[in-house]
Amino acid sequence: MTSLCIKIVLVALISIFLSVPALAWDDVGHKITGYIAWQRMSPKARENVIKILRSAPEDSHLSVYYQSYGVRSEADKQLEYFMLVPTWADIVRDRAFPVRFQKYNKGDWHYTSVFWREVGGRAELIADKKPDGQAIEKLAEFEKVLRDPAVSDTEKSIALAWFLHIGGDIHQPLHTSSRVTDREPNGDLGGNTVQITPEGTPRADQQNLHWFWDSIVPRNIPFDFGFCEGCYVKHIAEAFTSRYSIEAEKGGLALSNYTLWKDESLKLAQTEVFRSDLKRFETPSDAYRRNALSVSERRLTIAGYRMGETLNDIFGR
Ligand SMILES: [Zn+2]
Repeated sequence: MTSLCIKIVLVALISIFLSVPALAWDDVGHKITGYIAWQRMSPKARENVIKILRSAPEDSHLSVYYQSYGVRSEADKQLEYFMLVPTWADIVRDRAFPVRFQKYNKGDWHYTSVFWREVGGRAELIADKKPDGQAIEKLAEFEKVLRDPAVSDTEKSIALAWFLHIGGDIHQPLHTSSRVTDREPNGDLGGNTVQITPEGTPRADQQNLHWFWDSIVPRNIPFDFGFCEGCYVKHIAEAFTSRYSIEAEKGGLALSNYTLWKDESLKLAQTEVFRSDLKRFETPSDAYRRNALSVSERRLTIAGYRMGETLNDIFGR
């Protein structure tokens, strides 16, 4: 390895460890989706996808992560790398790498939040308020880029990393919802303004509803795998896919119908996230937590199936 290569690998490794907590499914959630997608992909699709990702622009650090897994078998290396790729869009939020941050961080690509309010116990859309964020547009745009034979692999690599990330995010109900209340006339920012710690809790100790849903899986499934994070993700992902099998979910995948994916999530936000037993400034009940976990398990699984099948369709021929 040249000294430049070594430097880049070090930068990449440091940024893995320093990567900031995500305002999205946290990185375990995104890796689960990546793992499930990979299991759906044909050898041809896997080969094409890895080739594209390894052509990523140097300043994105995306291709460098592949070299970081130097000691593994080729198959393990590819899987671990592919699982990391959906987290890249959060890795680039790290301001410790200002050049990468400036060029690649896109805050409003992670969600498409529809404004709505509750009226007499029913959800009512606020039709004259345009949704916040660009997730839906970007998913469609990136799918087009990935399908275009005239686009270079280098350009496709960034589109692919974003596609995998947003494809996960849009399955988190609170990435599609901005609930309007008297307290939040301009919306609750996907539950970010809804505190679930007691009123008056110091800022540093506050927890909000968005965080609760983003991190629900690792907070509720204990990590018992030493230093092997990949083993943990595999363990969780396989439990999810046996609970929500591809055979059972296949009929509802609606590939490329990003508006429908968003509408499913929004409906869940209105019915399962903002249940009548959820109270501001209170820790959600055990019953609420268990339900949130099972909703999230299914959403992460479906996201993985959708991503894997879409990539098969594009790259598996
Ligand atoms: Zn995100």
